[in-house]
Amino acid sequence: MNCSRCPNASASNLKHLGPLCEDCFCDIIERRARKELRQNCPLKPKDAVAIRHDKGLESAVLEYIVRKVASEIPCELLILDAEKRPSAQVRLLIPVSATTLASTLLQEVLDNKTTDTPQEGIAVFETLTDEEMLTFAKFKDLKYEENVPSEIDRVIKMIDEKYENGTFGLVKSKKVLDSVSTSQSRDNRQQ
Ligand SMILES: [Zn+2]
Repeated sequence: MNCSRCPNASASNLKHLGPLCEDCFCDIIERRARKELRQNCPLKPKDAVAIRHDKGLESAVLEYIVRKVASEIPCELLILDAEKRPSAQVRLLIPVSATTLASTLLQEVLDNKTTDTPQEGIAVFETLTDEEMLTFAKFKDLKYEENVPSEIDRVIKMIDEKYENGTFGLVKSKKVLDSVSTSQSRDNRQQ
């Protein structure tokens, strides 16, 4: 099968993206990641950003993308050890994928409670799924440590196989629920 964007042979076939060659696939993912980075954390020359490397898939993809962007602008990129905090002038980027958001939502529904995790940095990558990042890492030959999929991860995979864009649908639902619960707690405080 050929790539849907160019005459090359298709190398990936994620249902929602269709057949794509390595270059076109990586191009789509990189554009999406860069757009989100630009929106959530616009960088100017001489700015400094940090990422905390936990050796996982999301950190590996984030490092690849931010390294490229930082070299073009150019600005400083700090790679921190797992527990280290950046100084106040440095913005910390935290990769939180669509898959992570979707699994948080499912866990909240199952536990019948909302988790209020404090955000210590700027979240990026909510427009990318773990499956997309896996394929991207494979094509770019990025090194990372695999973690064992949880029960929730397997449920999300099933939803994705059954419904096109299932993960992104869950992310949308999570945003709606979060805004409802935020406005409810605001109303409660006002009463
Ligand atoms: Zn192509």
